Amino acid sequence: MSIKIEHLNYVYSAGTAYEKQALHDICLEIPDGEFVGIIGHTGSGKSTLIQHLNGLIKATDGAIYYQGENIYSEGYDMRKLRFQVGLVFQYPEHQLFEVDVLTDVCFGPKNQGLSPEECKERALEALKLVGLKEKYYKASPFELSGGQKRRAAIAGVLAMRPKVLVLDEPTAGLDPKGRDEILEQIASLHKETGMTVILVSHSMEDIARYADRIIVMNKGKVMYNDTPKNVFRHYQELEKVGLAAPQVTYIMHELKEQGLDVDVTATTVEEA
Ligand code: ADP
Repeated sequence: MSIKIEHLNYVYSAGTAYEKQALHDICLEIPDGEFVGIIGHTGSGKSTLIQHLNGLIKATDGAIYYQGENIYSEGYDMRKLRFQVGLVFQYPEHQLFEVDVLTDVCFGPKNQGLSPEECKERALEALKLVGLKEKYYKASPFELSGGQKRRAAIAGVLAMRPKVLVLDEPTAGLDPKGRDEILEQIASLHKETGMTVILVSHSMEDIARYADRIIVMNKGKVMYNDTPKNVFRHYQELEKVGLAAPQVTYIMHELKEQGLDVDVTATTVEEA
């Protein structure tokens, strides 16, 4: 079992007038190699949750086990954890800053203390995984399109060869074509590398298409944690919290055939 979360609670600004409990008693297990989608409205706790996975935020209480070891135990190597659980933040391209794409992607492995040759080898491997064409490797990151920049930024995390890749809204701000390309690329790199992928999104459509399992977050709690089809069986409840996505038609039609009362004619989804 790759990641195990036990009774995790997180409170921002505890003890002040701004105190806010962002996570309530989260219990989850994410096996190695799984493609997991985390969905929920803005403010439901998705970002807070994923920042716990590589130790960026420390739980107010509860435990997290990575490969069987409690990451809060004394002497635990957090630095190693950061390299194993790669976090791609929202708009990661804002963090591109080197003179060219290749140098930028080398930044992570360089920080890991690897030799220049090894850094370059890993950077090239990562750039290939995200499907960025070779002609861009020596370009300034600022010359790239939005989608290309995002690929370069994701490559920067992949170059550290993480075992788990966590992406926070990787399609935010991209046009529909860029969005589909990034998602396809993430799906194919999951297939090629077998790494665990945790994809955060507020789009049920994006998540249902790729994830083996969906975790639905609502008000800091896990509302559902199941296969896309089983999550959709709770369509009525999802609709109540504005998370139903009638355009995920392949699931909707199947459920309708099974006698579930779902509206397959609607085409819009309430977004966060
Ligand atoms: P999501 O990623 O689903 O949008 P977040 O994890 O960002 O949700 O936020 C969960 C809750 O925690 C929200 O109520 C949000 O306002 C609050 N929150 C997030 N970051 C902070 C912070 N730095 N200080 C105080 N409250 C925060």
